[in-house]
Amino acid sequence: MIFTGPADKLPRFLTEVRMRQPLVAGNWKMNGSKSGVAELLAGVKAGAGSIARAEVAVCPPYVFLPMTAAALAGSTVRWGAQNLSTETAGAYTGEVAASMLKDFGCTYVIVGHSERRTLYGEDDAIVARKFAVARAAGLKPILCVGETLEEREQSVTEQVVARQLDAVIEREGVAALADGVIAYEPVWAIGTGRTATPEQAQEVHAFIRARIADRDAAVAAGLRILYGGSMNAGNAAELLAKPDIDGGLIGGASLKAPDFLAICQAADASL
Ligand code: PEP
Repeated sequence: MIFTGPADKLPRFLTEVRMRQPLVAGNWKMNGSKSGVAELLAGVKAGAGSIARAEVAVCPPYVFLPMTAAALAGSTVRWGAQNLSTETAGAYTGEVAASMLKDFGCTYVIVGHSERRTLYGEDDAIVARKFAVARAAGLKPILCVGETLEEREQSVTEQVVARQLDAVIEREGVAALADGVIAYEPVWAIGTGRTATPEQAQEVHAFIRARIADRDAAVAAGLRILYGGSMNAGNAAELLAKPDIDGGLIGGASLKAPDFLAICQAADASL
């Protein structure tokens, strides 16, 4: 039977089944050289052939995007950027526009990563604008949200994540989230080797989905919420087994093809 009614009136049994395709995206940060990137891309491309269900993406530094596009052409692996300008063109020395990323075949762009928020002063308004320009250019923004250790210890994780989410929802409307992906990245887990427990991560993922569902149940049900923060081959399966964890944004472990592919395989097996 094909259900033809409005999405928010889907029968309950359909909305309870996990229908979201997992996404594993590598955030290479400011790492790599021409020869190292060529090797990494070749390894990811070769291994991704055996990933049947999960979506795989890599986000190299800007300068490697042309060679990434060339190397991954004809494969199922997608690519994206780690940042973009708030502006669309013109006298903005050193900036890269959304349209340029699109031109180089990017599917994704990361916005609001905690390193950009803390090291480069990107506040919620800037992140929301980046989400908007990415979307307007036809890119899928990966919106990062997450609390610092201090904020977790003060029990304000939900308030922080809600504020970061709401900045985008208030600017673009809740339906805009359907054009992107959310990554919950507790700042204290990024690059530290200290991963959130599956229970801690699930709690925040469920909070994010519920907050969006309050505004639009169909958007919430379809939205992919990735976990990021020291995810690796050893802990991925447990995290990905949680019902609201739909993949991972991977930093350190995305720099070696076998490690990254092991996470992709765990995502594949999580369906
Ligand atoms: C990240 O920077 O997005 C990240 C998750 O890094 P790591 O996996 O190294 O913690």
